[in-house]
Amino acid sequence: MTEVCFCGRYGPLTDRTPILDDDGPSLQCPTCGHVDRLTVFPEPVRLRLWTEAKERELWDLRESA
Ligand SMILES: [Zn+2]
Repeated sequence: MTEVCFCGRYGPLTDRTPILDDDGPSLQCPTCGHVDRLTVFPEPVRLRLWTEAKERELWDLRESA
């Protein structure tokens, strides 16, 4: 699943930075900092996408260590 951000960044949805706040799981664009609340998706899909992004983030950390 790919998406284009306001800043023009194009890539996998799960390539963004996963953040978790009072409004629930969201993905933040690493280029412009725009936070996507994923509100177009139903709750189960939001959670799955967020988890996928988180796993990707952890994997990246492990790779660069
Ligand atoms: Zn952006």
